[in-house]
Amino acid sequence: MRYYDTHAHYNDEKFNGIVDETLNECMSVGVKYINNIGYNIESSKLAIELSNKYKECYAVIGIHPSDVGKCSVDEVEDLYKNLNNGKIVAIGEIGLDYYWVKDNKEEQKKLFIEQIELANKLKLPIVVHSRDASLDTYLTLKEHPAKYGTLLHCFSPTEDLVRLVIDNNYMVAFGGNITYNRAKSFQRYMDMIPASQIVIETDAPYLPPVPLRGTVNTSKNLPIILEKLSEYKHMDVEELSKIVYRNSLEFFNIKE
Ligand SMILES: [Zn+2]
Repeated sequence: MRYYDTHAHYNDEKFNGIVDETLNECMSVGVKYINNIGYNIESSKLAIELSNKYKECYAVIGIHPSDVGKCSVDEVEDLYKNLNNGKIVAIGEIGLDYYWVKDNKEEQKKLFIEQIELANKLKLPIVVHSRDASLDTYLTLKEHPAKYGTLLHCFSPTEDLVRLVIDNNYMVAFGGNITYNRAKSFQRYMDMIPASQIVIETDAPYLPPVPLRGTVNTSKNLPIILEKLSEYKHMDVEELSKIVYRNSLEFFNIKE
């Protein structure tokens, strides 16, 4: 089976000095593509550098809501203009995070909207991070739609968000979070979301799937995530692997 890790951070310091060997291990289990996701200017730059160095790696650049006030959207645009190597496939991870900081909601929304507008200008899709902020994420995306595609990363379904995803043909990505204990409603939401709108991710080095919690997560754990997804979708793993792989290539506009 072939895998596309749509969301990883080999630009994270946890991988300093071990990127070569780690990526080799991942390729040996069938990982063909990896998106390295930026969360500020420095990490976005590193994501682009990794995409220069490794043919499997693509870059997603942007400012995470936790970095609000620390960097500007103009800097993201400059990165794109100065370092564009044809492998910057989206703007992300952008969005809202009310788990860590709750007193800067308006600044977070402003930064989110500015980056949606940048993505529209550059004709790129967006990769969205939303934590403890599903209603505001819903409202922002409704009022400020991304024209070239929306992917909700580490998707944690709610009634509103699932509706939004289905009505607007958004993509959702599941990672290790799908293997954690889930509320009963999770299966119902999984039944509602068509396989054609699902991709997989690891969020490496974070969010390792069960039973590997507490370890450094890498893309070689994608088979565990896919297996769990196939149980929820009541689909054959091999068939599902082909669908999510193709979905990923299409969403990020990658021609094999
Ligand atoms: Zn991430």
